[in-house]
Amino acid sequence: MSRPMVVVTRRPPGRALEILEGVADVWVWPEDTEIPREVLLERVRDAEGLYSMLSERIDEELLDAAPRLRVVSNMAVGVDNVDLAACARRGIAVGHTPDVLTEATADLAWALLLTVARRVVEGVDHVRQGRWTRWEPGLLLGVDVYGTTLGIVGLGRIGTAVARRGRGFDMEIRYTARGPKPDVEAELAARYRELDELLAEADHVVVTAALTEETRGLIDAAALARMKPTATLVNVARGPLVDTEALVAALREGRIFGAGLDVTDPEPLPPDHPLLALPNCVVVPHVGSATRRTREAMAELAAENLVAGLEGRPLPAPCPFPEL
Ligand code: NAP
Repeated sequence: MSRPMVVVTRRPPGRALEILEGVADVWVWPEDTEIPREVLLERVRDAEGLYSMLSERIDEELLDAAPRLRVVSNMAVGVDNVDLAACARRGIAVGHTPDVLTEATADLAWALLLTVARRVVEGVDHVRQGRWTRWEPGLLLGVDVYGTTLGIVGLGRIGTAVARRGRGFDMEIRYTARGPKPDVEAELAARYRELDELLAEADHVVVTAALTEETRGLIDAAALARMKPTATLVNVARGPLVDTEALVAALREGRIFGAGLDVTDPEPLPPDHPLLALPNCVVVPHVGSATRRTREAMAELAAENLVAGLEGRPLPAPCPFPEL
């Protein structure tokens, strides 16, 4: 019996390829760059499985080019790069990688929150540039974290993990989601708020909502204007949740204290982007889940999703489809 053909858009870490090669003929984009769109469209022609990264757009054009496709496995939990409705209409299963990356991403959110609140990057620059010549009572004063109020925009798996860490800092937890979450309220004494209220109340705002048509641009100029001038904003979800131009203006004019961004819009951010010239903004290159163990776990879960889809079994981590 002939083996199914699988396209892998980027060499994954860990045992993922071994798992795939156990059941399929696997073609892997050989370069250390994003696969060019035209190569992908050509390669998926005979593919029954597609193992993708968040950098590939899985849309109608790609699905038209891949008539034999039965399963898409995205090596990410966010699937804003996948047209889920189009996959559902064609009976193509979609897998993603929830849970295995939750704690690593929450850790990075906290790394950014503390870095921005306590001006760590400015401090490092101060020392490296030879400006540390004496102790000064007013040098690099930051804002408090311990005992303040943490606002989570989009309290799902990662948001809850960020909030749990906040309890260790004796913080009050406020959150938004599509509705209240009694379990989390009971566990963390968290309180549901409408977005406007949360932004006005929180000392530190962490964005962990999924990117959808509803959440695109959620943190716009009006939202930023509701935040305290002493508040920080951290985004570890997806760049387009925050209006970049509005954020640049708010940071430049000191209307919020600072921002820590793991994700940006555009992404990658060009080196001459205004955000990078602002001392109160810290940007890291989308490394929320980037620990060796987490990336290997993501890669292997994505491989297991793909194999299950090829074999017609339920995916270990299926992506919920929208109502059609
Ligand atoms: P999740 O458990 O599905 O959480 C997503 C949350 O977004 C849910 O709580 C959902 O609310 C909320 N949400 C959706 N629409 C909303 C709206 N209109 N208003 C307010 N909240 C809304 O997913 P997760 O595993 O925590 O991951 C969250 C996101 O983080 C992913 O989608 C991904 O984009 C991003 N991420 C980034 C990295 C990184 O490397 N920086 C790593 C992993 C994930 P309900 O619970 O009410 O549905």
